Amino acid sequence: MKSTSYRPAKIEINLSAIKANIQQLQLQLGKDTQVIAVVKANGYGHGDIQVAKTALEAGATSLAVALLDEAVKLRKAGIKAPILVLGWVAPEFIEIAIEYDITLTVFQVNWLNEYYHQASDSKKLSIHIKLDTGMGRIGIRTMDELEQFLENINEKYLDVTGVFTHFATADEESLDYYRLQLQRFAPMLEKIKERINQDIFVHIGNSAAALRQESCLFNAVRFGIGMYGLYPSQYIEKNRPFKLEPALSIKAKLTHVKKISAGEAISYGATYRAEEEEWIGTIPIGYGDGIQRKWQGLDVLIDGKRMPLIGRICMDQCMVRLDHAYPMGTEVTFIGGQGNERISLEEIALQLDTINYELACLFTERLPRFYY
Ligand SMILES: *Cc1c(COP(=O)(O)O)cnc(C)c1O
Repeated sequence: MKSTSYRPAKIEINLSAIKANIQQLQLQLGKDTQVIAVVKANGYGHGDIQVAKTALEAGATSLAVALLDEAVKLRKAGIKAPILVLGWVAPEFIEIAIEYDITLTVFQVNWLNEYYHQASDSKKLSIHIKLDTGMGRIGIRTMDELEQFLENINEKYLDVTGVFTHFATADEESLDYYRLQLQRFAPMLEKIKERINQDIFVHIGNSAAALRQESCLFNAVRFGIGMYGLYPSQYIEKNRPFKLEPALSIKAKLTHVKKISAGEAISYGATYRAEEEEWIGTIPIGYGDGIQRKWQGLDVLIDGKRMPLIGRICMDQCMVRLDHAYPMGTEVTFIGGQGNERISLEEIALQLDTINYELACLFTERLPRFYY
């Protein structure tokens, strides 16, 4: 599967890695817990449509995204599986959700009432109720709030098909806060089950909770970062139940190679000066592609060896100090393996004081994605 591109720089996505990560997790979960593949933010930068199709082939039974826009994009690409929007959607767009058969996350009484005002009898909206057991982001927090919400459920216009909550610390060593969230969840779930007279789909786990399996995970897990072969945290990486296979690599080719003499400077600000005669390579990738200026000084792989990015990263290009001359077109790996060396998103995240989740989302549309 190839996109059209004329530039010697690309993201490669190994779809079989995504498949393997899902299948491994499914084996661990057992057959009673389904996998919801989380493909928000363009599939964590990997490409939402391709990842969604692969995940469904691998056994995931539904998809989750953050925005209604993302859900509609998947539908327009011909994806038929259930799709849940995890974030808040403005009531004025509910008819779009109904039209495209998309499940919304709901937790506000006012939202319900705004919907009933405009609702038609034709087709019901499917919703999952969101409970805030400690994440502090969106959701119903108290029993009182929940009772009031349930009193306002009008089954003429909607179907409550699910209920969920989200953990704030599932990736950390201590399970104290995780358990507190579970404790708050249990009575709220009971209350919902008393009121709703049909089977509801219950899901609480993200990747970290799914990989750890420290508690009952009910009917499904929302598998995001782990599906891409990335670890939710260093703690989870150290204590992993199985090895995840990273799907994303970033590769480019040298477009210029030259020798400079001692004292010569490289790039904007002339911040880098050669200490001796040095071979310098130019790579056609820059911060316009998501290789941020902060990457200055980090390594890339050439000929299976680590070599440093030197001088300021430009918008479209950057420079690397080579250990000797290399031919034009030599492959440069920013993320991924080459020979026996590997640079992971986790490594870069650690050096840049961020997390792999954020880095993966930063690679821009300008870098063509190639799938294999
Ligand atoms: C993003 C998100 C997930 C996926 O989390 P991972 O840590 O990437 O597995 C699950 N649930 C909700 C509500 C989310 O917003």
